[in-house]
Amino acid sequence: MASKDHANSSHATFDLFVQAKTCQEVKQHFSELCRQLQLDSKDFRGFYTKLKERLNYWKAKALWTKLDKRTSQEVYQQGTACAQNKCLVLGAGPCGLRTAIELSLLGAQVVLLEKREEFTRNNVLHLWPFTIYDLRELGAKKFYGKFCCGSLDHISIRQLQLILLKVSLLLGVEVHTGVEYKGLIEPTGEKGWMAKLQPQSHPAAAFQFDVFISAGGGRFVPEGFKHKELRGKLAIGITANFINRKTAAEAQVPEISGVARIYNQKFFQDLLNETDIDLENIVYYKDDTHYFVMTAKRKSLLKRGVIKKDYSNAEQLLAPGNVDHVALCLYAHDAAYFSTGGKLPELQFAQNQAGQHDVAMFDFTCMQRAENASLVRERRGKKLLIALVGDCLVEPFWPLGTGIARGFFAVFDTAWMVRSWAMGVLDLKVIAERESMYQLLSQTTPDNTSKKYSLYSIDPTTRYQSVNLSAIQAHQVQHLYDVDKGS
Ligand code: FAD
Repeated sequence: MASKDHANSSHATFDLFVQAKTCQEVKQHFSELCRQLQLDSKDFRGFYTKLKERLNYWKAKALWTKLDKRTSQEVYQQGTACAQNKCLVLGAGPCGLRTAIELSLLGAQVVLLEKREEFTRNNVLHLWPFTIYDLRELGAKKFYGKFCCGSLDHISIRQLQLILLKVSLLLGVEVHTGVEYKGLIEPTGEKGWMAKLQPQSHPAAAFQFDVFISAGGGRFVPEGFKHKELRGKLAIGITANFINRKTAAEAQVPEISGVARIYNQKFFQDLLNETDIDLENIVYYKDDTHYFVMTAKRKSLLKRGVIKKDYSNAEQLLAPGNVDHVALCLYAHDAAYFSTGGKLPELQFAQNQAGQHDVAMFDFTCMQRAENASLVRERRGKKLLIALVGDCLVEPFWPLGTGIARGFFAVFDTAWMVRSWAMGVLDLKVIAERESMYQLLSQTTPDNTSKKYSLYSIDPTTRYQSVNLSAIQAHQVQHLYDVDKGS
C-alpha cells in the first residue's frame, strides 16, 4: 500500500527532485513540482515562501529550517536589499550557481545561463572547512547524504553543481541550460542592457538587466576585462578517474590528501625506480570515483611515450597530436596503482562525457588572472555593473585545490558589491571596494581567514581577518567606469 506521504504526488515529486542525479532530471522534477503546486517559477519574488506554504511535507521541513536560517541573515534585509536589481549570471559551474543563490537571497531577480545541457565532470574538488560549513548550511546533506561524511573534505564537481542547482531553483533563480552567451547588447530606446544568445530566439534574450556576473570558467574573458598571464616553470597536470565499486576492500585504501615531493622523497624515488614515472606531487580522493590528480615531469612523460616529441613550447608539447592517449592512460593507471600500494587492484577507468576513459592532461605553466574584478559600463544613461567570479577571475592550480574556496570568497565579495550598488553607494566607491577585496584573494588560506564559520556572511569583515575596503581609492579605478560620451 502506498504510504500516506506518497499518496500526495507533490511529495513524491519533491523526493524525486531531491534525489535527482542529472541536471535534466532536476529541471524536469522541479517543473513538475511547480505544476502540481500551481507555482510560477518565473514569479521569483516570494517563490520560496509560497513553495514552503504549499508543500506541507515533513521531509521538506528540515531543508526549510536550514534555508530559513540563511535567508534570515541581516545582510539580506529580508530579501529586500537588492529587490530592484535584475541580474544575469553566466555559467552553471559551482561559482555561477553559488552567486545566483546569494543574489536571490538579496532579493534580486536572477537569470542564469549555461551552454551545456548536463553536468559531467567527475573530477573532485577539495573543500576548505568554511565551504563545507557553507554547503551544509544550504542543505547539502539533504540532497547528497554522503556529503563530507566523517573527515571527507571533497566532492565531485558534478555533485556540487547538482546541490547548488537544486538550492538555486528552490530560491527562485531562473536557470536556462543549452543556451550560450554571445555578448552584451547595449541599451536602445526604452530597452536596457540585454544579452546576445545562441539560440537567438531564446526567451532569456528578452531579459533586461543592470548586473552581469560572469562565471564562465577559466579563460573566459568577457569584453572590457583583461587577463594577466602568470607564467611559471613547466607544470603538467594529469587527472584520472577510476570506477569506485564501493567494495569493502576499496573502502580500506587510504586517501592521499597531497603528497608533495619535498615531503616524501622516498615515495617519489621508489615510484621512479619501479615505473619510470616522475611526479612533483599526487593527490588521491575516494569519491563517486577514485580520483587522482598529479603533476608529472616532462622527461618521464617523454620516456614513457606519453608525449611523442619534445618541444620547448608548452602548447606544442601538449598539443593533442603530440600526446599518445593509450600511453597517457597507462601512465595514470600505473601512478594510481603504485601510490595506493596496489590495493586498488581493479583499476578500471570511469568514462568521461565523450564515453572515453576519463583521463586528461592539462598545462598549468601559464595561469590566468583577471587584472580587475569589476567594472561599470554606462550607455544612454543606463548603467551595468559587471563582475567576474570563479575561474574566470583567477584560475586555480588544481593540485592545490583552491578553486572552490577562493571561488566562493569571490562570490561573497561580489554579492556584497551588488548589495552596495543597490544601496546607492557611489559607483566608483563600489568598484574601489571590490578591487580592494580582490587584492586579498590570492593570499587567502584556511589559516589566515576567520575560523568563525557560523558568522560568515557576504560582509567581508566576517570572513577576512583584516580587510581594508579603502585600500584602493575611487580615483584609482576611474578607468573601470566606462561611460559613453553622450551620457
Ligand atoms: P566552471 O566550473 O568552469 O563553470 C563555468 C561554466 O560556464 C561551465 O559550466 C561552462 O559550460 C559555462 N559557460 C562557459 N562559457 C559559457 C557561455 N558563453 N555561455 C553559457 N555558459 C558558458 N579543479 C580542481 O580543483 N580539480 C580538478 O580536477 C579540476 N578539474 C577540472 C576539469 C575541467 C574540465 C574543468 C573545466 C575545470 C576543472 N577544475 C578542477 C576547476 C574547477 O572545476 C573550478 O575551479 C570550479 O568548478 C569553479 O569554477 P567556476 O564555477 O568558476 O567555472
